[in-house]
Amino acid sequence: MHHPLFQSLIDWSLTYYHSLPWRINRTLYTTLVSEMMLQQTTVATVDKKFQAFLLLFPEWADLARAHQDQVMSAWRGLGYYQRARRLHQLAQIAQSEDHFKSLLSGDKKLPGIGLYTKSALLSIGLNQPALAIDANIRRVLSRYVGKESTDQELWAFYEKHLKEYTQPRELNEALMDLGRVVCTAKKALCAHCPLQRGCVSQGVLSDVKTQLKEKKDITLVRLLVVKDNKILGYKKPQGYWLEGYLELPTFIIDDFDFHQYVGMNKDHLGCSPNFTIKSTITHHRVVNQIYHLEDLSVVKDLLDDFTALDYYPLDALWANTSMKMIRRMRWETQIS
Ligand code: SF4
Repeated sequence: MHHPLFQSLIDWSLTYYHSLPWRINRTLYTTLVSEMMLQQTTVATVDKKFQAFLLLFPEWADLARAHQDQVMSAWRGLGYYQRARRLHQLAQIAQSEDHFKSLLSGDKKLPGIGLYTKSALLSIGLNQPALAIDANIRRVLSRYVGKESTDQELWAFYEKHLKEYTQPRELNEALMDLGRVVCTAKKALCAHCPLQRGCVSQGVLSDVKTQLKEKKDITLVRLLVVKDNKILGYKKPQGYWLEGYLELPTFIIDDFDFHQYVGMNKDHLGCSPNFTIKSTITHHRVVNQIYHLEDLSVVKDLLDDFTALDYYPLDALWANTSMKMIRRMRWETQIS
């Protein structure tokens, strides 16, 4: 059965979202960059970073020969830095558009390219029939068919009803747009939806998982120690959040299951923080307590848990949150 409403959906998306920067002069390379950026990051944030990244690394070869620190620095603000490392790695493997295209059509597993990204590259990058099932598309189509659906069921729906559309690229993007701005996890604005006349659930599908994950509150203690205008820090080890970036020595208070940070009891320091800063780490709301210390003896045993602990200059590759704390301290103490 043909679903003509999806043509209306495509027309709606082309009217309002055609000019997003990654939808202009598209190549497989620009599609990969934008897809990597858009995973877990909002369109508004990517909008600010995408063109600047392409100015620095306009082609596969430019990204391939860049130093990892340059790539990390260009990625700053997008979060989830593992994606930047994967992208860099892929550029080094691919080196060119044609080679990447042939790799994509082969069976070899490419780092960071799972079923979703491969489908996005095929449909959006190459305009070939495929459904890139992300959270938005899963939610929109589940609501449309009136039942929480598995990826296999959504693929079957696509094969049966949507594959005939000659614009796989525009169809995928339109479904993503709808999930992002109209049929959102928090609310379904059905009165504004081009699919409304055919939608079974009309926004009242209680069994579709639309709840945002509850954020957990955690408290981190961050030490700010200055010597000769350098700051005590450590390089986040491989496989950890913000891998490769510098962070202030950081401890988690009374939560010894959060393996990213060394656990510390709340009374260990025996004094009050100099200031606090709030931030988030994926599903955590974080209160950062910053202690400006001169005497390290009280935490000496805890510092033994850090590898690559050293004094680093202010312009080294500090993670964003640590940099914010350093700036705040510079402002308060006037260190140069
Ligand atoms: S009609 Fe409502 S529930 Fe159905 S797809 Fe549109 S916004 Fe989502």
